Amino acid sequence: MSTDLDLARLVERLGTRPRTTVLTGAGVSAASGVPTFRGEHGLWKSHHPAELATPEAFERDPALVWEWYDWRRQQIAACTPNRAHAVLAEWNRRDPTFTLVTQNVDGLHELAGTTDVVRFHGSIWEVRCWRACAASPSRWRDDSVPLPSIPPTCPHCDGPLRPGVVWFGEGIDPAVIARSELATRCELFLTIGTSSLVYPAAGLVQQARRHGAFTVEINPEATPLSSGIDLVLRGKAEDVLDTLWPQLMQIT
Ligand code: NAD
Ligand code: ZN
Repeated sequence: MSTDLDLARLVERLGTRPRTTVLTGAGVSAASGVPTFRGEHGLWKSHHPAELATPEAFERDPALVWEWYDWRRQQIAACTPNRAHAVLAEWNRRDPTFTLVTQNVDGLHELAGTTDVVRFHGSIWEVRCWRACAASPSRWRDDSVPLPSIPPTCPHCDGPLRPGVVWFGEGIDPAVIARSELATRCELFLTIGTSSLVYPAAGLVQQARRHGAFTVEINPEATPLSSGIDLVLRGKAEDVLDTLWPQLMQIT
């Protein structure tokens, strides 16, 4: 765990009422019981997520990919937001400059009450027509758990649906890129619970730093970007944010 002195540096920054952006990754949901991809529980039936979360995997075997997503949806449906989600939601409520960008697809930030979340990698609770047929909307919500059929089919063309998430090797929605880039024009940028290995999301913290933001990483482990961060708080998101809570309540 980081020292009181480290935390004091962040508290001092908060005292200047900085325009704040937070980027979160799977580590923020770990305490809720949602497995991270790189943690020891990241595997499913001996498949690595990187073998399943790709358009090629879906093309090859849509049922296998959907079985994995159906399993993850069931797992997430049984989870509730943790202290990290709650503190960030309260920060969001109190501070009109606050923006939350998440790589998580689980929807737990929204469930905790954070509004206008920039969902960098989409949502596991949304689906899209795989063929992108003309009659279907670009994406829509479907939170049936478990799914009635695998793979689920498009009500407009009867073709397969795909999960509304961004897979490895796919581009990010340009509107989401635009909102995220705008959010890097801040004064305080926190990157929380992400391994900082997946780009372009990982590049946001560096971009914020170039724009003059004070950058903070909260993670129990070092990441490839740790050395370029202004303040590293070694600890779990739910613990560090909980410790910050009283100060946050005074300042904002
Ligand atoms: P990752 O699995 O690559 O890395 C997780 C990071 O969280 C690690 O650096 C680990 O040290 C850290 N961590 C673990 N427990 C923590 C805690 N309690 N507090 C703070 N940090 C903790 O996750 P990633 O960087 O988000 O990248 C994986 C991609 O997979 C993401 O883009 C995301 O779309 C997807 N994913 C999403 C979820 C979800 O929605 N909850 C879960 C797994 C993967
Ligand atoms: Zn369709």
